[in-house]
Amino acid sequence: MTLFFMYQRIVIKFGTSVLTGGTPQLDKPHMVELVRQCAALHQAGKEIIICSSGAIAVGRARLNFPQLLPTLSNKQMLAAVGQSRLMQMWERFFEIYSLHVGQLLLTRSDVEHRGRFLNARDALNALLEHHIIPVINENDAVTTEEIKVGDNDNLSALVSILAEADLLLILTDQPGLFTADPRNNPDAQLIPEVHTIDETLRKLAGVSVSGLGVGGMATKLQAADAARRAGTDVIIAAGQAPNVITAAVQGKALGTRFPALDTPLINRKRWIFAGKKPAGNLLIDAGAARALCDNGRSLLPAGIVTVEGYFKRGDTVIILGPGRQELARGIVRYGSEDLNKISGCHSDEIEARLGYAYGSVVVHRDDLILM
Ligand code: GLU
Repeated sequence: MTLFFMYQRIVIKFGTSVLTGGTPQLDKPHMVELVRQCAALHQAGKEIIICSSGAIAVGRARLNFPQLLPTLSNKQMLAAVGQSRLMQMWERFFEIYSLHVGQLLLTRSDVEHRGRFLNARDALNALLEHHIIPVINENDAVTTEEIKVGDNDNLSALVSILAEADLLLILTDQPGLFTADPRNNPDAQLIPEVHTIDETLRKLAGVSVSGLGVGGMATKLQAADAARRAGTDVIIAAGQAPNVITAAVQGKALGTRFPALDTPLINRKRWIFAGKKPAGNLLIDAGAARALCDNGRSLLPAGIVTVEGYFKRGDTVIILGPGRQELARGIVRYGSEDLNKISGCHSDEIEARLGYAYGSVVVHRDDLILM
């Protein structure tokens, strides 16, 4: 019997709690079982990308649970020890099926700069073309808090965007998102499908935490939102459930599913959304807000009321409406110093005010994502 598969390129995020089964050590038999499912899908021609947490937990176990202060350098040290051990395990288990793995360690800056984004994408595609399973983690051994993505939920969303994946499967120690915290509310029910991510849902996710990893449901929700906007279906499900990976790829109902928004963003837009930390804000007037949101226009200097922060031409900024609500993000064609001189003025005046002009537009439509 040939099985029907819904998805072709799949990013699977394994949380620490999934790989350890909630214990302080890797749960090797369970990892082998997860690898078996990945290998079967690979055999069926699917492209599997793994986003694996666990470096810090594995490092801790490897060093026999040393008493350490929770400093950045100690975490870096644990990650350095644990990452190679973790990779060794993936390598060993995929070897059972004669499959190769390739390690990619990313940081925020790898998706922040257009050039590095393209480099990372090329590397990922080269691995897939050669039928190698990419195993990705954050480069915890060298990253500091400022340049970190910080949690592997958001990292897996960035990877999905980078890879233009059809499915992001976030495996955790919970069966999905619930209507209340299932640990203390017996009436809590699993939410099978989410179409709108609103404040109520964010609040709901904010209260539930999952065992050992960095993120709880809140970071999973953020990740799901980013990935679905980029055209990727997202499923949050329990990593311990039998055949969870195979079932998810077959499109069976399980966990909480976030269908992709049906207008996938083109790559450049994916990058704006996923990549750069915004460097500043542009507060715009009601007329410009309408032009942007309702009429699909670019942002002109005339509509800008206030420029906040210091940024350069090419940086990403947040565009705020008159009530400071976030309307959009985009790449600016003028830096903040220039904008301070030209905001509110007609585009014809740009050259006279600055002595030069990069065109009439501050954020072009093509470089803009409405939120
Ligand atoms: N990158 C971290 C690790 O490998 C995990 C981060 C997370 O749990 O989200 O230990």
